[in-house]
Amino acid sequence: MITSMKKKVYIETMGCQMNKLDSELVACHLKACGYEICDALPEAEVVIFNTCSVRQHAEEKVISKIGQLKKEHQQRPQLVVAVIGCMAQRLGQQLLDDYRQVDIVCGPGQLHHFSSMLAEVLDRRRQMLSLNDPQETDNLEILDSKRDTEEMDRPFSAFVRVMRGCNKYCHYCVVPYVRGPEQSRPIRHIVAETRRLAENGVKEITLLGQTVNSYRFKEGGKTWGLADVLSQIHDIEGLERIRFVTSYPRDFDERILRAMADLPRVCEYLHIPAQSGSNRILKAMNRNYSVEAYLDLIEKARELVPGITIAGDFIVGYCGETDADFLATKELMRKVRYKNCFIFKYSPRPGTRAAAKMADDVPEVIKKQRNTELLALQNEIAFEDNQKLVGLPVEILVEGASKKPHLDSTEEVAEADAECTINYYEAKNSDTIQLTGRTRGDQIAVFNGSSKLIGQIVKLKIVKASALTLFGEMQ
Ligand code: SF4
Repeated sequence: MITSMKKKVYIETMGCQMNKLDSELVACHLKACGYEICDALPEAEVVIFNTCSVRQHAEEKVISKIGQLKKEHQQRPQLVVAVIGCMAQRLGQQLLDDYRQVDIVCGPGQLHHFSSMLAEVLDRRRQMLSLNDPQETDNLEILDSKRDTEEMDRPFSAFVRVMRGCNKYCHYCVVPYVRGPEQSRPIRHIVAETRRLAENGVKEITLLGQTVNSYRFKEGGKTWGLADVLSQIHDIEGLERIRFVTSYPRDFDERILRAMADLPRVCEYLHIPAQSGSNRILKAMNRNYSVEAYLDLIEKARELVPGITIAGDFIVGYCGETDADFLATKELMRKVRYKNCFIFKYSPRPGTRAAAKMADDVPEVIKKQRNTELLALQNEIAFEDNQKLVGLPVEILVEGASKKPHLDSTEEVAEADAECTINYYEAKNSDTIQLTGRTRGDQIAVFNGSSKLIGQIVKLKIVKASALTLFGEMQ
């Protein structure tokens, strides 16, 4: 336990929402132990990188950041450097051996030990390693259940983990190896945590799981699924919005869609990655569904949940992807009309089946070209669909002052959006700033208003739209 001057901790987070939640939980726990979280690395005495292994590029970035700290570490030998998350799990001892400036390596399933590891390192200056233990099943409950809303960056919106790990073993993906098998939390823990968060002012809950619709928990002679979680938390006082991410297209229980339709606080939004529009490639990826089944699910979702928005992920240039496969992906994108898509160029990840058994045979130049083409198509679709919202009312939860550029898809579009924002919105007086928030369908909307609106749900009329951003006026 730290008793003297508060040590400053800087946390940098890469990757998915699960990592964002882990960082928030670690930050809350460290604050409770007497540390202070700071925004700038140079003033920190403890630097934590919460890492992602899903793409090679993400790992390379962390290695470069660790490399940059070598000199800093020599000048400030008391500086503690910690690597947590998926890359910590994947590389383990190798990180400690290769980079002497790294003091702590801690896998994503061991974060409940992080504060004691840090105390030990500060006390004895020795390197420490803790990797996931498959026998430990409820270790993260310790962190999840102790979150203090006063310590959260956005006290009105919170992630709640419903499960962790993944059993799907898509051939390109490292997640099952670094996060372990699927483990669903007891439903009563999820309800209790959500209630506690709502009592402390949280209005929006996002239920998190790598394959969130696979949530299954057996208790009291019943198997509880995600639809049960949605209905159990729905009436908690103070909650206004409920979301869940990320969905896996196979085994999608229709009860979830019916819960979305019947429960007004559940937002009309589904993030459901397709990854490819070619059945041949889906098979090579071990995704275990067909394009037809995926489209049936989207059609059902649109039929049962009017106005639902769909977000997706695609990988281009996967092993063996031909021009015909890529055309099929574009065709799927045209049919679904996603709100937004995350599009990635395939890169083999060590330890996966694709890396071991399949040739990474699509040239980089083709991967880049397909990436650009697919992004352009997505932007065209999103731009067209967003124009249909101009003149309509939307309800947004105000998240904070607008940062520029707005969320990415391509740099050009982000820049165009930023330009549009600047031109369109010059704050008229010092009482108003440009604020940003999200609609129920997860679209980003910006408008001019008072910072007192942060954390509130407000109604806007959309007056202008780009592919990535809606521009509104308060009603
Ligand atoms: S469903 Fe597939 S892509 Fe998603 S985390 Fe699991 S293995 Fe990875």
